[in-house]
Amino acid sequence: MSQQRTFSIIKPDAVKTGHAGDIIALLEKAGFKILALRMTRLTEKQAQGFYAVHREKGFFPSLVRFMTEGPIIVMALERESAIQKLREVMGATNPANAAEGTIRKSFAESIERNCIHGSDAPETAEVELRYFFSTLDLQN
Ligand code: GDP
Repeated sequence: MSQQRTFSIIKPDAVKTGHAGDIIALLEKAGFKILALRMTRLTEKQAQGFYAVHREKGFFPSLVRFMTEGPIIVMALERESAIQKLREVMGATNPANAAEGTIRKSFAESIERNCIHGSDAPETAEVELRYFFSTLDLQN
C-alpha cells in the first residue's frame, strides 16, 4: 500500500507531564515519518470546532476545557496505512481498555485525559491536517 498521511495531537496532559518526547519516540519507532510538527495552544472556539462531532455529548464542555488548558503539539505523520496504524499504537480511547505497550496504556490518566489524538478516517485526516498545516508545511 502507498504512503498515507494522518494527523495527531499530543494533548495538554502529556505535554504537561513531560511525555511528549516519549510519545514522539514511540511514533518514530512505529515507522511514522514526521512531516510537520508545531507546539500551539487551542482557543475555546478552536477546540469546540475541532471536536464539533461531540458537541451534543455530556462530556463536551469538560473536553473543551481540557484541550484548552495548556499547550499541545500538532503533528502531520506519514507511513503505510498511517491512519489505522496510528489508531493501533494509540490504543483504546479509555486507557483502562488499551492494550499493553500502547501510548494510552503507557501515559494516559483517564478516558478524557488520554494524551493523544489520531484521525479516525481519510476524510477526517485531510480536514484535520488542513485545520493546522499549510501545503508548504506538508512538503517535507
Ligand atoms: P478517540 O478517537 O479515541 O480520541 O475518541 P473519540 O473521538 O470518541 O473522543 C474524542 C475525545 O473525547 C477522546 O479522545 C477523549 O479525550 C474524550 N472522550 C471520549 N469519550 C469520553 C467520555 O466518555 N468521557 C469524557 N470525559 N471524555 C471522553
